[in-house]
Amino acid sequence: MEKNLVSILFLVHLLIGVPLLSLFVTFSAASSDYNSGEVDSIFFQQFFFSFSFSFCDCRVQHILGIDFFKLQSPTLQSPIDLLDRRVQVLSHLGRLNRDYKPAPATVKNRGHDITIMWKGDADEIKINGTEYKLLQCHWHSPSEHTINGTRYELELHLVHKCSQGNLAVVAIVYKYGRPDRMLSKLFHHIKSVDPKQDKELGIVNPGDIKFGSSRKYYRYLGSLTVPPCTEGVIWTIVKKVRTVSKEQVRALREAVHDGFEANARPIQPLDGRPVYQYP
Ligand SMILES: [Zn+2]
Repeated sequence: MEKNLVSILFLVHLLIGVPLLSLFVTFSAASSDYNSGEVDSIFFQQFFFSFSFSFCDCRVQHILGIDFFKLQSPTLQSPIDLLDRRVQVLSHLGRLNRDYKPAPATVKNRGHDITIMWKGDADEIKINGTEYKLLQCHWHSPSEHTINGTRYELELHLVHKCSQGNLAVVAIVYKYGRPDRMLSKLFHHIKSVDPKQDKELGIVNPGDIKFGSSRKYYRYLGSLTVPPCTEGVIWTIVKKVRTVSKEQVRALREAVHDGFEANARPIQPLDGRPVYQYP
């Protein structure tokens, strides 16, 4: 009798303990990845992969107001090719409301990219009523997402996180042309950043990052594009292609030192995922 009770208690412990542990691991991995660097333990990655999807999808379904449970896709990886003939136009996604304020920032050379990290309250964007705080931005060259099969020269990622820990990334793609205003301001810091030491930038206004007058954007559910490639990331890609000078792209490429001069992940299969466009 007592033995049965012990078995039942053990089973209850397992049933409660394992999901709690997985939640904890999911939170830790998602936070550590973009706040303090990369997670590189293979064991940790495999462990994380096995639990992350079941946790993330229900929340994202709630946030987007879209039934992602209907998704039969075996993968939710990023980046993808954004094909205009495949998008579904959804006006209820709403305008991309951002409320960025100047805040203290540092520039970091992560080896595979240059990252600007905001330490204070750089404020947020709102997606379907949920606030996502801006954490950092970084650049990929060439662009990771392609638009109608075209790969552009540069892609900026603005990484945000909501209070539940979910990530939302806003991406802007650039072709060669006039210099980008934000990069012009940061140019000398980027050229001189020491890979071993973060550099204080003082106050940096993320509002200097221009989204363009067009309010159109693509939205889909994907993943981080660097390990551990965590799924459940809400992607918003500004449709307007902006411009950057060759000199600015060269500076970003030359600053990284791990053989990542080209730091774009290859296109991942869409696997039947819906891609939306506003408006
Ligand atoms: Zn990125």
